[in-house]
Amino acid sequence: MNAPLLKVQDLVKHFPIKGGLLGRVVDRVHAVEGVSFDLAAGETLGLVGESGCGKSTTGRCILRLIEPTAGQVWFEGKDVTAAGKGELRALARDMQIIFQDPYASLNPRMTVGAIVGEALTIHKLTKTAREYEDRIVQLLETVGLAADHMRRYPHEFSGGQRQRIGIARALAVSPKLVVCDEAVSALDVSIQAQVINLLEDLREQFKLTYIFIAHDLSVVEHISHRVAVMYLGRIVEIASSKALYTDPRHPYTEALLSAVPIPDPGITRKRIPLQGDVPSPIRPPPGCHFHTRCPIAQKGLCDTVSPPLKTVGAGHQVACHLRS
Ligand code: SF4
Repeated sequence: MNAPLLKVQDLVKHFPIKGGLLGRVVDRVHAVEGVSFDLAAGETLGLVGESGCGKSTTGRCILRLIEPTAGQVWFEGKDVTAAGKGELRALARDMQIIFQDPYASLNPRMTVGAIVGEALTIHKLTKTAREYEDRIVQLLETVGLAADHMRRYPHEFSGGQRQRIGIARALAVSPKLVVCDEAVSALDVSIQAQVINLLEDLREQFKLTYIFIAHDLSVVEHISHRVAVMYLGRIVEIASSKALYTDPRHPYTEALLSAVPIPDPGITRKRIPLQGDVPSPIRPPPGCHFHTRCPIAQKGLCDTVSPPLKTVGAGHQVACHLRS
């Protein structure tokens, strides 16, 4: 078997909360608690869960946009977590991110050409002004924009077009891995589909590998080969897209899936309502973090013992005491 492009091992991120006159650390937000997975070249892993489950923090820790508290990340066998500044700059060419908010992530004072071309300048990827401009035009056309858009400013574009600008910016350095961090969540449903189709075409064309982060299972279904479901900082289920959608094993995945509308009116799915809100990641519940909302939780077991991820099928793992 080929070595994975990306390997994430026991990734942990705790954000300190400071308080008091001396600004001491008084508590910690347990954002990511021991996340592990492998990603093959050309694969798309969907990372889903409710807001605050740690999926975006996981994506940012992988790229070292946020420093992980513990754990390791390897990219093409290189230890990203141990990389120094120079190595990180080089790795930034291979690993890019597309942010959620196309309104906030583009500098309103820069032209689209300058935004897309910034990384070309930083990484010295073009030699002449002509080459620089040609590359920007090529990138804009690749994402479905026009050459003359390079002289315009972000506010002149719609949300979907701005996200295309963000995609062109990420592609400028010819990355291998792209973290799509809620990249379509802020867009209307019809525009979401267009951007997802574009991302799928680009994956084929440039042999990209994606981590596709979203809070909505229906959004990741078609683009992902595998899906990992996160709850309060942990992966609770990971499986091929087909297995997860047709044979979910974790009660949390079942509840999330039951809320996804089915386009065929002849098929109905029983809604499994989730009780209450996600508990605070400052003091996550002991044992299985999901036990406070789980419809089948067992007292004395689920509230005391943390369930490990166990294999329940080919490439299918679930963290639940009662499911196999
Ligand atoms: Fe529910 Fe217990 Fe399974 Fe957690 S371990 S999902 S609380 S049954």
